[in-house]
Amino acid sequence: MSKIMDLQGIKSSVIEIKDLKTWFPIQRGILSKTAGYVRAVDGISLTIGRGEIVGLVGESGCGKSTLGRTIVGLEKAWKGTVFFQGQNLFTLNRRDRRQVTRKLQIIFQDPLSSLNPRMNVFDIVTEGLVEFGMIEGNRDDHAKRLLNEAGLEGDVIFRYPHEFSGGQRQRINIARAISMRPDFIVCDEPVSALDVSVQAQVINLLIDLRDTHNLSYLFISHDLSVVSSIANRVAVMYLGILAEYGSTVDVIDHPMHPYTIALISAVPVPGRDKKKRIVLEGETPSPSAPPPGCRFHTRCPEVMKVCRVKVPSMTRSGTRQVWCHLY
Ligand code: SF4
Repeated sequence: MSKIMDLQGIKSSVIEIKDLKTWFPIQRGILSKTAGYVRAVDGISLTIGRGEIVGLVGESGCGKSTLGRTIVGLEKAWKGTVFFQGQNLFTLNRRDRRQVTRKLQIIFQDPLSSLNPRMNVFDIVTEGLVEFGMIEGNRDDHAKRLLNEAGLEGDVIFRYPHEFSGGQRQRINIARAISMRPDFIVCDEPVSALDVSVQAQVINLLIDLRDTHNLSYLFISHDLSVVSSIANRVAVMYLGILAEYGSTVDVIDHPMHPYTIALISAVPVPGRDKKKRIVLEGETPSPSAPPPGCRFHTRCPEVMKVCRVKVPSMTRSGTRQVWCHLY
C-alpha cells in the first residue's frame, strides 16, 4: 500500500486519484453528433490518507462536485484511475465494486432533497444495512445507535424528513452514510445550506465521527473559512485542474498561487485592510473551451507572456504543490 507524508507524519492512503478526467460529451444536431466535451475534471491527481480530511475549494462550476461524484461512482470517469485502499475501482467487476463502494459514501449539500420524503427515519438509516445483509440483532437498535451517533434522539425513528430542521436532516444523512461502516466519505458542501449557528455543530460532528471511526473525508466547499476549520490539507481547483495543494496552514496562511491568493483575500478577517481584497476581473472561461497555457491566465493579476502559451508544471515547496510559472 502506498504512503503519503503530511504534517502528522506517514499515513497509509485510503484514496489515490491518478490523472482523473471526467468529461461530458456535447451532442448537437438531429444525429446527436459529439461536437466537443465539457472537461469538468481534467487531470486531477491527489492522495487522501487514513483519518485525513482534505478540503477541496474553488468557485462554483470548477468541477469540485464532479470530482467527488466520480470518486464514489456517481459519474463515469473518462480517463485516469481511482484506487481505494490499493484497489483500482475502475477495473473491479460489478459485484466486487458494489461491495467496495459500500465503503465510499457521500453526503450532499441539500439535506431535504437527498432524503426520500416517503420514507421514515428508521427506513432511511437502515435501508442500506438490510440491502447488504449487515443487520445483526434488532433493526431498531441499529437505527437508534446510528441516530445517537449523529446527535439525534432514538425516539425520532418513525418521523419523516419534513418534520425536521435543516441541521437535523443533515444529521439523518450523516447517520445513513455511517450506517455502511465506510472508510471514506465525500462531503459535498454539507453545511452550505445550513444556518451559520448550525454549521459549526455539524462540522464538530463530522470531526468526532472521523476520530471515532478513523474516517477520511474529501470535504468540498466554496467557503474557505469552513474548510480551514476542518481540513488537514487543502486542494484548490480551477477550471477542472488543481492550482495548489498543501497543508491547510501552508495554503491558508501562505498561499502561493495567484488564484489561491485572490480566494483568500475575499475571506473576511477582522482587522484586515479591505483594500487588500483582490477582485478577479472577467468571467471564468467555459470548461468546454479552456484557454491555452495556464487556465487562469485570462484573469490572473500576475500574468506573464509565457502563461498564455505554456501549461505550468507542478512545483514542490516542502509538502506543497503549486502549478504556476512564478515558481
Ligand atoms: Fe498567473 Fe501565470 Fe501563474 Fe497562471 S502561471 S497563475 S497566469 S502567473
